[in-house]
Amino acid sequence: MPELPEVEMRRRFMESQAVGRRILKVAVIDPTVTKRIGPAEITGSLKGQRITATRRHGKWLFTGLENGRWLVLHFGMTGRLAVHGVDETPPRFVRLALHLNDGHTLAFVDSRKFGGAGMTDDVDAFLATRHWGPDPTLPGFDLNAFREIFAGRSGNLKGILLNQRVIAGIGNLYADEMLYQAGLHPETRAADLEPATVKKLYEAMMTAFGASLAVETRYAELPENFLLRHRNRTCQCPRCGATLKVHRVAGRSTYYCPRHQRKRR
Ligand SMILES: [Zn+2]
Repeated sequence: MPELPEVEMRRRFMESQAVGRRILKVAVIDPTVTKRIGPAEITGSLKGQRITATRRHGKWLFTGLENGRWLVLHFGMTGRLAVHGVDETPPRFVRLALHLNDGHTLAFVDSRKFGGAGMTDDVDAFLATRHWGPDPTLPGFDLNAFREIFAGRSGNLKGILLNQRVIAGIGNLYADEMLYQAGLHPETRAADLEPATVKKLYEAMMTAFGASLAVETRYAELPENFLLRHRNRTCQCPRCGATLKVHRVAGRSTYYCPRHQRKRR
């Protein structure tokens, strides 16, 4: 499932492939992609418009148009963007296609259909009405803001990090990575965190996002001591040699090292 770094890669793709181009034609190939508003509004809002800007917040991508409206994309589990030329075969599972004036088609591709497309006139209002938490990589978010999301909050760290209304963009993979890098058990209670530990977790989060973006989210190219390289198979912790464990925390398959991420009593 695309998380913050993966959606940031999609934003960069949209920025390089679409901004400055004009949308000549819109094809809503699968009407269920426009869950809330219907194909006619999407087509009417996009057709003929020049694409002017991109924004991302958490796992949401916004693409700005000269009429002031924004195309809103959410990628669900398998959503991605692709570009192909007029003479090229489109990829499978295209849900929405924008034919651009540079001769390319920008496609929203989603095999499992959990993603979706919508429109908004105001990105900030859109985010506010859905009560999404802050995006930790955008300007204005810092260690103090990170501290605030844990202050007075009950529950375990894994559950809090996954809650998009508390902090936006972290999913199962990066939550595990942050906790692994910070040496914290996923079921550690937020109330038990010391200030130095919150700082460690904040730094682990920024390191995880930064390292992943530096390799354009190709996990195999991450440093050896990243959990993202070792998930989905039982193996030794690259930091301490213990056998990694997996069990369900906050309803999700959670990987951790039983030795260097011990549960505190
Ligand atoms: Zn370990």
